[in-house]
Amino acid sequence: MSDCIFCKIAAGEIPADLVYEDDLVVGFRDLNPQAPTHVLLIPRKHIASINELQPEDEPIIGRLYAAAAKIAAQEGFAESGYRTVINCNDDGGQTVFHVHLHLLGGRRMSWPPG
Ligand code: AMP
Repeated sequence: MSDCIFCKIAAGEIPADLVYEDDLVVGFRDLNPQAPTHVLLIPRKHIASINELQPEDEPIIGRLYAAAAKIAAQEGFAESGYRTVINCNDDGGQTVFHVHLHLLGGRRMSWPPG
């Protein structure tokens, strides 16, 4: 989608601190990190929110989580633990309408989330 900032990052049209790339997903560091490691994993395909997921998109969502687990291992907190979150729409706290999985690690997380 032409005016989507995350589509532009996936296409290399605007800069980002990339940490992961494959045929389906891209990972980059969040501009406003909420943990020592805060990476966003996005599909290359524009999907506005989890509500718009189509059955054929389900492998993409699996790949987002597989990539997050790889990055957690690389960053050294796979065993100690981490959090993965996908926010959906206003009440979920979604501000960028291109699906993204937050990977947060490197500190102890609290529960319930705010
Ligand atoms: P959400 O509130 O779940 O939609 O998360 C959007 C996230 O995108 C926030 O954590 C922002 O800090 C992050 N963000 C927005 N623009 C950029 C950007 N250009 N590069 C990296 N992270 C971004």
